[in-house]
Amino acid sequence: MHKYFPLVIVMGMCAAGCSPAEDSPQNTVTNSSLVATSATAARSDALVQYSLIAALAAGDYADGFPLREVLDGGDFGIGTFDRLAGEMIVLDGRMYQALADGTVRQADLDSRTPFAAVTFFNEDGRFEKVVATTLEDLDQQLDRTLPRRNSPYALRLEGTFRALTLRSVPAQSPPFQPLVKIVQDQSTWRKQNVRGVMLGFRCPAWVGTLNVAGYHWHFLSDDHQTGGHVLDCEIDSGLLTYDECSALLIEIPQTKQFDNFDADAIKKQDINTIERQRQPAGE
Ligand SMILES: [Zn+2]
Repeated sequence: MHKYFPLVIVMGMCAAGCSPAEDSPQNTVTNSSLVATSATAARSDALVQYSLIAALAAGDYADGFPLREVLDGGDFGIGTFDRLAGEMIVLDGRMYQALADGTVRQADLDSRTPFAAVTFFNEDGRFEKVVATTLEDLDQQLDRTLPRRNSPYALRLEGTFRALTLRSVPAQSPPFQPLVKIVQDQSTWRKQNVRGVMLGFRCPAWVGTLNVAGYHWHFLSDDHQTGGHVLDCEIDSGLLTYDECSALLIEIPQTKQFDNFDADAIKKQDINTIERQRQPAGE
């Protein structure tokens, strides 16, 4: 059953060969294969997201997309699970679930997600010996050093973290409360001297409330015992690798609940509160 369909909303410039088709039937065949090839290439470098962060913030937590479909979209990324049952980490093609009690398990791939963002991680560049005293410090350094201000990036920071503040949320029951209310009761915990990977995305401001504008980080320890959504971190020497995404592809839920969600009711401020637990300066 085709419950969902994809919509490409933003793509990078097309390479030579993407000029409009001429009208002869022979050319139609040739140009179709060209379009398919370039679409496939664009998708492999795309940030692929399933639903919108605004819909999640509004309380669209149930069902969503099959997890196996998310892994078809990328081998690296973050998200949540059906009924908000924990934080999703996709690393090297495997999917992990960081639960509200702070433990981590491999996700049950027969389950679903109301929101996830993934890409196939292909390193475009790296920064060695990254030092950061806080998450804000890290984000500001990356703002100054990543090549493009208005492209999305997948980011991977590995090393031993002197300190980490993580959070996760428990599974919700209907009627669902807006996310901004649920995170008031989130579980947070602090870890020290833990080795692992912080991973996530930086989305440009133009994503608005489609995704999280700015940085969104999750964490998974090397021993797979600890993970969650990152609220703060401190690191002495990390290796940061990045993958610049050339397209944004949004899979749109075809559900009644999504159809009923009111995009105007969710403000960028709500997304900041949900994801960062801090008020953005100047907004
Ligand atoms: Zn998160």
